[in-house]
Amino acid sequence: MSACLEDLDADGNVEAVGIYGLGRVFSAGADINDFNRDHRANTGPLRDLFATLDGMSKPTVVAMHGVAFGAGLETALAAHFRIAQEATRIGLPEVTLGLLPGGGGTQRLPRLVGMPTAIDLITKGKTIDAQTALQIGLIDEVFEGDPEIAVANYAAQLVESQTSPRRARDMRLESFDPAIFEHAAKGLSAASHQNPGPVAALGCLSRAAELPFQEALAAEYEDFDGLVEHPLSQGLRHAFLSERLASKVRGLDKTVPASDVSEVAIVGAGTMGVGIALACVQAGLQTCLIDQSEIAIARARDTIANHFANRVKRGKLSLASAQKQQENLTFGDSYDLLSNADLIIEAVFEDLAVKQQVFTSVEDHANAEAILASNTSTLDLNQIAGFTKRPNRVVGMHFFSPANVMRLLEIVRGDQTSDRVLKTAMSFAKTIRKVGVVVGVCDGFVGNRIMEEYLRQCYFLLEEGALPHDLDHALESWGWAMGACKVMDLAGQDIGWAIRKRRAVEQPDRPYSKIPDILCEHGRFGRKTGKGYYLYPTGTRDILTDSTVDLMIVEHSDEIGLNRRSVTPEEIVERTLLAMINEGAKILEEEIAARPSDIDAIYLNGYGFGRSRGGPMFQADLMGIDQVLERLTHFAAGRQGWAFEPAPILARMKDQEISFSDLNQGLKLDAIT
Ligand code: NAD
Repeated sequence: MSACLEDLDADGNVEAVGIYGLGRVFSAGADINDFNRDHRANTGPLRDLFATLDGMSKPTVVAMHGVAFGAGLETALAAHFRIAQEATRIGLPEVTLGLLPGGGGTQRLPRLVGMPTAIDLITKGKTIDAQTALQIGLIDEVFEGDPEIAVANYAAQLVESQTSPRRARDMRLESFDPAIFEHAAKGLSAASHQNPGPVAALGCLSRAAELPFQEALAAEYEDFDGLVEHPLSQGLRHAFLSERLASKVRGLDKTVPASDVSEVAIVGAGTMGVGIALACVQAGLQTCLIDQSEIAIARARDTIANHFANRVKRGKLSLASAQKQQENLTFGDSYDLLSNADLIIEAVFEDLAVKQQVFTSVEDHANAEAILASNTSTLDLNQIAGFTKRPNRVVGMHFFSPANVMRLLEIVRGDQTSDRVLKTAMSFAKTIRKVGVVVGVCDGFVGNRIMEEYLRQCYFLLEEGALPHDLDHALESWGWAMGACKVMDLAGQDIGWAIRKRRAVEQPDRPYSKIPDILCEHGRFGRKTGKGYYLYPTGTRDILTDSTVDLMIVEHSDEIGLNRRSVTPEEIVERTLLAMINEGAKILEEEIAARPSDIDAIYLNGYGFGRSRGGPMFQADLMGIDQVLERLTHFAAGRQGWAFEPAPILARMKDQEISFSDLNQGLKLDAIT
C-alpha cells in the first residue's frame, strides 16, 4: 500500500487519492495474534505507511464502512480527510487489550476532536457511530451506499474545490483545562493495576499537548512497544483470543450446519430455569417455562416480572422492549407445551431419578428433531442420554448462576452427541450472547472440577494460618473478581457441604479441611442466612468480617494440632493457582477440554478469574513449565502434598519443550514411548 501511494503521489495525472475497503468492514485493526509473534515486523511497515499517508502531497481521503477500529482508524487518521458509511462503528479500543493506539492515534485524534473527547474515547476504548464521529469532528462526511463511489465523489470534490492536504499533525490543539489530565488519572487509577493501557494512553495524550508532534509520536511508539510485552496486556490478549478459539470446536465436521433454534422450552422453573428463560427472551427467542409445581411457576412469574420492572425503572430497558420480551415468554405445568420446541433444556432437581423421569416424559412430548439438553452440574450426561431413545440428540448445557448474567456456557459433549447437535448448541450459545465452551463428561466438568482443587487449597490455607479476609484480600488484589470465601458465601455454603459429604464417601483418601463444614454446622450458609465467613446485615450491602469465625478457625487449627503461621499473599496466590494448573493439566490429559485456552475461557467467563491474568493455563506458561513442575514438586513434599502430585502431562511437556500456548496452536505431544 505504501508503494502504491508513493506511485500515485509521483504520478502527474493523479490529483487526489481515495482509499476504501472491500468486504464486510473497512478494517477491524491489527491481527492480535501478530503481537505474540514478532510484532515489529508488522508495526514497523504500518507506521511507515501512516507517515507516507500523512506526507502525501495530494489530498487523500479514506472511506470507512462496517467497522474502523484500532490501526484501521489510525490509517484514516493519518490521511487528510475521512468519510464513513452511515452504519460504521469507529473507535480506538486498544486499551481493552492493555495496549494503546500505537500508530499515531494518541497524537492525531486530540488534534481533530479536542483533548477532552480524545481522552474519553481513547482511555475508555469507546466505539462510536458515524453520526457521532461527524459531530465531534473525527470525520468530514457521512455517506450512504457504496464506499467506492462515495470516496471517488469526495476526492473529485477535493479536486474541484482545489483543497490542499489537511494533516492532523499540523493542526493546533484546541485549548482545554490542563487539570483534565489529573482528573482523568484519578478516574483510571483504581483499575490500573489490572490494566496498564489506559494510564499509558493518558501519558501519550498529555505529551500531545507538551511536545512537538514527531517527538511525542516517537514516545507513543516506544510506550506501545513496551505494553506489547507487558504480562497484563498479554493476559488480556490471550483472554480475547481464547474466547474466539473456543468457538472452533476440535474434531467437529465443519460442513455440518447448525439447526435453527427459534423456540426454547425449559423444564424446571427454579433458580436456574428462571435465569435461562431470561437469557432466551432477552435474545428474542420464543420461550416456554414449565414446572410441576404451581408455587414454583408463580414464583418464577413474579421474579421475572420484577426483573423487567427493575430494568425499566433503572433506565436499562424501555417499557416497550420489556413488554415485547415478556410476550415471548409463556408458563405452564404441562409437557404438552413442549411439542413445538426446537430445544428443551432440563433444569430440575439434581437427582438422577428425577432426571430420568423428566427425560422420559420430555421425550414422549418433544418433536423428533428437538434437542434435549440437561443443565446438570455433576451427574453423568451419558447416563442421562441413556434414559432416552435418541442419545445422539442429548447434550449438556451447564449454565452458571445467575444464568441471565454469567457469560459462560459449558457445552457438554456426550459419547453419542451428534456433530449437528453440538454445532447447534454452540450457535445457540452465541444467540443468547454466551461464551460456549465444549467440554467432555466428568464429575464437575471443567469449571467445577478445577474449582474443587482451588477451594481445597483455600480451606487448607485457612487452617494453616490465613483468615477469610486475608485470603480474599490476596486473591482480589491479584485479580479475582471476588475472593473464595465471599464466593462461597454467595453461592451458599450448604451446596458445597452436600458435595463434600458425597466426596467423603467417594474419595476418602482426598481429605478436605473441616472449616467450611464447621461453618455449616453453625447454620452459617452464607448470604442467604445473613452470615457465613462474613456477616451480611439485612437491608445493607455491607460485608463485615466476623471475629467469631476467626475464632472458630483458630480453634480448629488448635484441635488438629497445627501451629498457625503467617501465610503471605504470594503463597495464597501461588498455591491456589498451582492447584488449578495441575488439575487443568489432568483435564487436558483426559481430553475433557480440547485445549488449554478453553480452560482459560471457562475461568474468565464463569468464575471471575481476573481477565488480565489470562486464565490459569496462561499463567502456567508465564511461569514456565519447568517452574510449574518445580513448585508443584516443592509443595508435594509438604503438608497435604498428595494434592500437588504433578499431572504426568507436565513432565512430557517439559521433556518435549512444549508450552500450553503450543498446544493451543494445535501442536501435539509425542505419544509416550
Ligand atoms: P431449584 O431447586 O431452584 O429448581 C428446580 C425446579 O425444578 C423446581 O422449581 C422444581 O419444582 C422443578 N422440578 C422438579 N422436578 C420436576 C419435574 N419432574 N418436572 C418439572 N419441574 C420439576 O434448582 P436449581 O438450582 O435451579 O438447579 C436446577 C439444575 O441446575 C440442577 O441440575 C443443578 O445441578 C443445575 N445447576 C444449578 C446451578 C446453581 O447455581 N443453582 C448452577 C448450574 C447448574
